[in-house]
Amino acid sequence: MLLKGKIALITGSTSGIGLGIARGFADAGINLVINGFGDADEIEKERAALEAKGVKAFYNNANMTKPDEITAMIEDTVKEFGSLDILVNNAGIQHVQPVEDFPPEKWDAIVAINMSSSFHTIRTAIPHMKKQGWGRIINIASAHGLVASPFKSAYVTAKHGVLGLTKTIALEVAQDNITCNAICPGYVLTPLVEKQIPDTAKSRGMTEEQVKHDVLLAPQWTKKFTTVEQIAGTALFLCSDHAENITGTSIAVDGGWTAA
Ligand code: NAD
Repeated sequence: MLLKGKIALITGSTSGIGLGIARGFADAGINLVINGFGDADEIEKERAALEAKGVKAFYNNANMTKPDEITAMIEDTVKEFGSLDILVNNAGIQHVQPVEDFPPEKWDAIVAINMSSSFHTIRTAIPHMKKQGWGRIINIASAHGLVASPFKSAYVTAKHGVLGLTKTIALEVAQDNITCNAICPGYVLTPLVEKQIPDTAKSRGMTEEQVKHDVLLAPQWTKKFTTVEQIAGTALFLCSDHAENITGTSIAVDGGWTAA
C-alpha cells in the first residue's frame, strides 16, 4: 500500500521527535496534522515548510491534558481530510526529582500528557480506522518504557503504561487491518533532553560535554545519540506493508541500552 496521500496526525509535533517524524512523513507524501505548543510564528513557519514538500499540513493546538480538545482534534482531522490513517502519539514532557519531593501536579501532568492522551486519541480514532479498513497507531514510548532510572517516577510509570496500552489495543483491533506498536527511543538531543543538561552539569560538577558523554550516553552502548530521522524512519517502516503483521510490540532505537 502506497503511503503517499495518507493522512497522519502526530501529537506534540512542533518540536523534536514529533517534528522529525512530520518531516519524514511529508517526504513520503503523507498529509499531516501537527500539534503542540510554541511560538505561533515558528509553528506557522514549520507548517509552511511541510507543505513546501508537496503535502497538506494543518496545525491543531489541542492540549494533551484536555480530553475534550483531544477528541475534537481527531474529529476535526477526519472532517478536514475525510479520514485518519496514521496516528502517532508522541507528545511528552519530563520532570526529574526524587519521589518524596516529586510535585503531585507534575505527576498528574506527565501521566496525562505522556500516557492518558494516547487513550483519548486512540479511542476516538479507532472507529474511523475500522470503517476505512486500515490504520496504523504508533506510540512513542521510551527506553524508560522498558527499564527505569531513578528520579523519573512519573515518566517511567507513564511510559511503561504506554507499552501496556500498545499491547492491549493491538489485540483489540488485530483483525481490523489496524496495527498498534511502540517505538522506544534512547536519548535523542531534543529540547526535552537539552533542558536537563545544564542542571545535571551543575548538580554533578561536570561540564555539559561530560554530561552528554558520561551521563546521557553512558547506557547507550554505541555511544551515539539516536536521531529524529532514525525515529521517523522506524515509524515509516511500521506504516509500510512489510510491517503489516507486526503489532503489539515495541522497537527499541536505543544504541543497545535495553539489551544490557
Ligand atoms: P520535545 O520537548 O522536543 O517535544 C515535545 C512536544 O510535545 C512539543 O511539540 C510540545 O509542544 C508537545 N507538548 C508538550 N506538552 C503538550 C501538551 N500538553 N499538549 C500538546 N502538546 C504538548 O520532546 P521530544 O524529546 O521530541 O519528545 C517527544 C516524545 O519522545 C516524548 O513522548 C518523549 O517522552 C519521547 N522520548 C524522547 C526521548 C529523548 O531523548 N528526547 C527519548 C525517549 C522518548
